Amino acid sequence: MRKFSLALALSGMVMGGNTAFAQHTERCGNDIFLKAALSSNPSLEVAYKQYLVDSKAKADAFEREMSNSAQKATGTVIIPVMFHVILTQEEIDKIGGIAGINKRVISQLDVINTDYNARNADTATIPTPFKPLLGNMNVNFQLAHRKPDGTVTSGVEVRVAPLLFSGYSSYPSGSDSAKKTSKGGLDPYDNTKYLNIWVVNINSDNGNVLGIGYSPDFAAALGAPDNAGVLLDFSAFGKRTPGVPGFSEFYESGADKGRTLTHELGHFFTLWHIWGNTAVGSGNCTDDDDIGDTPKQKDATTSCQTFPYTDACTAGNGIMFMNYMDYVGDACYRLFTKGQVTRMASTISNGGTAYGLTQHPELTMYPTAVSSIEEKANLNIFPNPTTGVFDISFGNARSLKEVRVLNMTGQMVSKVNGAQANGNTVRIDLNNNAKGIYIVQCQFEEGTVVRKITLQ
Ligand SMILES: [Zn+2]
Repeated sequence: MRKFSLALALSGMVMGGNTAFAQHTERCGNDIFLKAALSSNPSLEVAYKQYLVDSKAKADAFEREMSNSAQKATGTVIIPVMFHVILTQEEIDKIGGIAGINKRVISQLDVINTDYNARNADTATIPTPFKPLLGNMNVNFQLAHRKPDGTVTSGVEVRVAPLLFSGYSSYPSGSDSAKKTSKGGLDPYDNTKYLNIWVVNINSDNGNVLGIGYSPDFAAALGAPDNAGVLLDFSAFGKRTPGVPGFSEFYESGADKGRTLTHELGHFFTLWHIWGNTAVGSGNCTDDDDIGDTPKQKDATTSCQTFPYTDACTAGNGIMFMNYMDYVGDACYRLFTKGQVTRMASTISNGGTAYGLTQHPELTMYPTAVSSIEEKANLNIFPNPTTGVFDISFGNARSLKEVRVLNMTGQMVSKVNGAQANGNTVRIDLNNNAKGIYIVQCQFEEGTVVRKITLQ
């Protein structure tokens, strides 16, 4: 494994006003891990190759379905996210204590929501020929606020323990120690409902690796389905806020804008590196990411470049080094393409292996209202997501006073009086509203029950 940094003078249209930063060569452990896993157990090779074929076939089928469907646009879906932090007290102190962890979590969610919805301001500096390719996944990552048993969580759990990521050679025991309480880490929450992120110290004994992301399919193909999720190094966790105590220290150069997780989640949603699956330094023009709209690329781009930047595989406009699945670093990343987004969206569509993550928005709601009223109301909303009309059913219709539907800015878009209920069901029509997420407040005499619904 390489272990060195390069100080680079940065310039050009893609860089904006940045001056210089040290750059990691091996940002991500996926290729190294894959190589180690396959060499430790050659029988995995067959399962792994089948996974590559299957994930592409699923994405192609999804793309055909989308192009044939009258309703191409899908609404925003909510994915509950759980952060599991396993660090020593000394390491926790380095990133500002528990307060620092919480700040990093909030900023980290903001970054992935911005990047995955193409709201990042630096899309303005995507080179003109690549601009039409900018993809938007339309996904809303939110902290989980309910544990699998229904009790409250902040969305972050911390175990103070000297857990070092113990390397690739001991696969699978080394890689999954963070993901098992019995081995000093923290068990995932049900990974068919929650996206699990583990924040650990990968870096100290593993060169410059900042993260590793496994899709549910990839983890299953390698015989370890519980490993689905992302391992993130604590030095590349969240977005640096200069000058704020506890929030500006201890960031790796080139990894201080929270985009290590943007990259690793790309792997979670079955993307490979933009140059293919080969380890850094051994790429070729045959190996590819199997995405139609990303240019062929020979190898990782380990420093920011000036457009157009060509290589042995692609002349003309050259390679798309500013893609999140390359290695240029946080300051230079700009986009996922539409083709990449289609591949990712196929995993959270009906039938995809991460579909379950989109079906539990209630896990992001605080269970403060989960009390006798929640139980008495026995409230169900269906279908959710909806294309316009949906029904709310209650266990006890007599006590319903009113249903209000609010958009995400708090404006009321629909109101139904409890007297208008049909037995124990109220029908709501959102057909004249924009696609997105809405809050449904059901007011009973005893209190209010709140749900979210997605309008597609
Ligand atoms: Zn990677």
